[in-house]
Amino acid sequence: MSDQNYHEFWDEAMNQIHEEYKNAGQENDFLLWFNLEYVEDTLSTITVAVASEFMWRLMLSKGNIDKVTKKIAELTGQSITLKYIVRSKKVDSTEAPSKTNEETSSSAAKQASVSLSPTAASKQTAAAEEKKNLKHPQLREDYTFDNFIPGDNSAYAFNASLAAAKNPGRAYNPILIYGGVGLGKTHLMQSIGNYIYADKGPKIKICYLSAETFTNEFIASIGEKTTDKFKSKYRNLDVLLLDDIHFLQGKDSTQEELFHTFNALYDRNCQMVFTCDRPITELKGIEDRLRTRFSRGLSIDLQPPNYETRRAILVKKLEIQGKKIPDDVIDYIAKNVQTNVRDLESSLTKMLGYADLVNKELTVQIAQEQLRDTFSSPLSGTISIENIQKVVADHYAISISDIKSKKRDRKFVIPRQIALYIARQLTEYSFPELGNEFGGRDHTTAMHSYEKVEEQLKTDSSLNSTIQLLIREVKDYKK
Ligand code: ADP
Ligand code: MG
Repeated sequence: MSDQNYHEFWDEAMNQIHEEYKNAGQENDFLLWFNLEYVEDTLSTITVAVASEFMWRLMLSKGNIDKVTKKIAELTGQSITLKYIVRSKKVDSTEAPSKTNEETSSSAAKQASVSLSPTAASKQTAAAEEKKNLKHPQLREDYTFDNFIPGDNSAYAFNASLAAAKNPGRAYNPILIYGGVGLGKTHLMQSIGNYIYADKGPKIKICYLSAETFTNEFIASIGEKTTDKFKSKYRNLDVLLLDDIHFLQGKDSTQEELFHTFNALYDRNCQMVFTCDRPITELKGIEDRLRTRFSRGLSIDLQPPNYETRRAILVKKLEIQGKKIPDDVIDYIAKNVQTNVRDLESSLTKMLGYADLVNKELTVQIAQEQLRDTFSSPLSGTISIENIQKVVADHYAISISDIKSKKRDRKFVIPRQIALYIARQLTEYSFPELGNEFGGRDHTTAMHSYEKVEEQLKTDSSLNSTIQLLIREVKDYKK
């Protein structure tokens, strides 16, 4: 290893590319899509660390890896191959990297997760040590970018969050992350906080809290006649991370207070991050002026991860805990737990707990038995078509009889198609049965409605979020 040979060239290449993007008015693109960290080099290669295999492939397909290679060739006169490793948590390992992945041999299914070299390791350990001393009281230490696996569903959210963290208040402000439960909204939001805190030190005033706590604190301050104190506390922050803003629906006076807080922080270029369980357009009982402010910066959508990402997340979680389970068991969990990352985590915890208890190696058969409850949608017995129709009708402020009727107005047709789609997803009803339940239509009409929604979902991510939200509501629906 010719350690450090190319390090300066690397820095220079990245600086030059950064400048080029800046001059073209595309600095944000640079911040988003060149998330590469120098690790080490040999005479003909440079190894970089990336956040996930998926991110590497994305940067490869965008031509960014090519750009870097060309720039390095320009500067050094040598043709250098870029190799990558997936950033690993096990930075204190003294092993040399066992495996790197050539640019040309990146295999889609393989999740590369290897330890870093001693030099990189000790550097990162030192950085980690430093970070440890800088623990922010409101932020979870493990909610960091390093522990987050960006995949098909979250690469953009991850990159935008990282860009904002590197350049708070300047790159994107505010950031609004929305999507269903357990998809990593809080994790990403706190990663931004942790990053800024580690980067800028404790002098920076970062506040993380849920919209519910914000509301309660505000109401208490009215009772205690300390609203001035409340106002100055929040209006003088440097970074505000406000989680789960859907809680603010219908809370008019808190919204008003947040509106003024927002303006004060925005004027001072203070970074704000909000999360919400649905697209902002779907929020009810939120003042328009606040709604427009939430979406003034960048709104990003988190979707459930696909199989490959789910697998990568499981591998990462195991690595963090220093645990091993057989590959086919990992596969089984990744294939079957499709809802969200929280469910994925709890399935894994359940499996590991069981293995510990019986002191046995896990097998697919044990996994099947242990996770039966998780997959056999515990609610399938209690989900009725009527509940689905009720939840969807309520959401669109129409009645169940509108949903079942033959009315052709768009305001009825769309909820009807969505309800039917959800019914098909969550129950065992056939198309003829569904047609029957939806106002005595024939099975081809039912099938057509279903396919229409399915088709639209391919391009309309906000419809997808709405449907995910409705599905959750249906599952939570208590008679
Ligand atoms: P949300 O706020 O959207 O409900 P959380 O941020 O609480 O979700 O995430 C739920 C759990 O899943 C957390 O333990 C989080 O660390 C984990 N998680 C979510 N997405 C990822 C990811 N892409 N990589 C690693 N862990 C993740
Ligand atoms: Mg959350």
